[in-house]
Amino acid sequence: MTALPWPDRGVRTARPGPPDQPGPAGPPRPAGQPGRPATSGQASRPAQTSRPRSAGPPGPSDQAGPSGRPGRAGPPGLTVLPGFSARRPAPPRHLADLDPAARRAAVAELGQPPFRADQLSRHYFGRLTEDPAQMTDLPAAGRAELAKALLPGLLTAQREQQADQGRTVKTLWRAADGAYLESVLMRYPGRVTMCVSSQAGCGMACPFCATGQAGLTRNLSTAEIVEQVVAGARALAAGRVAGGPGRVSNVVFMGMGEPLANYNRVIAAVRRLTDPVPAGLGMSQRQITVSTVGLVPAIRKLAAEELSVTLAVSLHAPDDDLRDELVPVNQRWKVGEVLGAAWDYAATTGRRVSIEYALIRDVNDQAWRAEALGELLAGRLAHVNLIPLNPTPGSKWTASRPADQDTFVARLAAAGVPVTVRDTRGREIDGACGQLAAASVPAPAPGAPASAQTGEAARTGEAARTGEAARTGPAARTGTDGQPG
Ligand code: SAH
Repeated sequence: MTALPWPDRGVRTARPGPPDQPGPAGPPRPAGQPGRPATSGQASRPAQTSRPRSAGPPGPSDQAGPSGRPGRAGPPGLTVLPGFSARRPAPPRHLADLDPAARRAAVAELGQPPFRADQLSRHYFGRLTEDPAQMTDLPAAGRAELAKALLPGLLTAQREQQADQGRTVKTLWRAADGAYLESVLMRYPGRVTMCVSSQAGCGMACPFCATGQAGLTRNLSTAEIVEQVVAGARALAAGRVAGGPGRVSNVVFMGMGEPLANYNRVIAAVRRLTDPVPAGLGMSQRQITVSTVGLVPAIRKLAAEELSVTLAVSLHAPDDDLRDELVPVNQRWKVGEVLGAAWDYAATTGRRVSIEYALIRDVNDQAWRAEALGELLAGRLAHVNLIPLNPTPGSKWTASRPADQDTFVARLAAAGVPVTVRDTRGREIDGACGQLAAASVPAPAPGAPASAQTGEAARTGEAARTGEAARTGPAARTGTDGQPG
């Protein structure tokens, strides 16, 4: 697919936001530390140019205001460069930003009885409707006003692309302020996973990731995150997804953005997704996966939340020399610290940690690195999810040779580490892992329908996947959502 200009190209660089602004939080860039040359023992690899695009340690310091609306994302003490303040309006307040008590207070402020908040919530989370005409249990007078105040339109579908005979659906969304984000629905036998974005863009600058190339636009609000799942749930309930009516069973925070750099809003979103109707959507916490580059303080904070969500850590290298380049935030929190926090998370929650490892040919796929990884993980409550690299447009890097991938799998297995290889679902519509970049999705021509079946994807998808699977070797496979099967 031809890469078209990112609609917000003018704000590629992450900037600290003013108070009450959904601003960025990015990894620190060690002062005066240029990219290191490859050290001996490392494979040669393409020159590394990407560095983190914002200054200051990300983490749980982003604040949501008392209303649950996005607050300052930058950590205290961050140096705000003159002229770099964000000027984006905050997303409109939405019922899904608020906990039940705050919803009742908001309804009371409108002069309506507080129990109307529960009625409204049942419509949104239970019946999946935001159309006042269908809310017949609410008095006609004041219904539209309530809906306008608490169910404002947040996301407009700009484009929808399908693959896998309509069982993978990627949607490009435009937020009220013009920010773009993407979500992907993936239907597998027995489950439907929504891969959601937590930020518009991403400030983590991982050089192999399409989202990382574009930089961070802003944090998403809680409701903007929840709305991606609700939209998928609506499409499924209405039978608009191939395979018949269904429900969203799993959510993975593996779309655009670093979820733990938008900590408060992501945690609130997890609560909205998992609280029972009418407080939330009533999903199981165990079916939610939060994937992170490894923001250590935020992982530790997450462990203290008493949630049963799965933690996925994007490791991609067992050694600091290489990880410093592949996941630049490693310059701040090293492999040992990240894994230490992950093991503490596993101990606190009893949940197996998922270690994500994109296999990149001749960069991180050597047998010795598999052995080093095996040593780090042996005996731990962890499993490795190998992701064949999805090359981003213009990337010099590509996926591993099948034989190298097989050897990598075998070495991990020999160390007793559970390992799976992820399929490439959605790859042909750039919906596979790491390929979400609104930049590559052309906006529809004015008046054009929002939905388009990609004929090419439909023709080539199955064959491409079958070939991939046949080459993959002995490891069990997971879906693009990282779940088995
Ligand atoms: N910021 C989160 C979510 C990122 S997307 C995180 O880093 O975990 C989810 C996974 O896809 C991450 O492991 C990410 O490193 C991986 N990924 C990104 N680009 C990729 C690519 N081009 N090929 C394969 N995996 C990729």
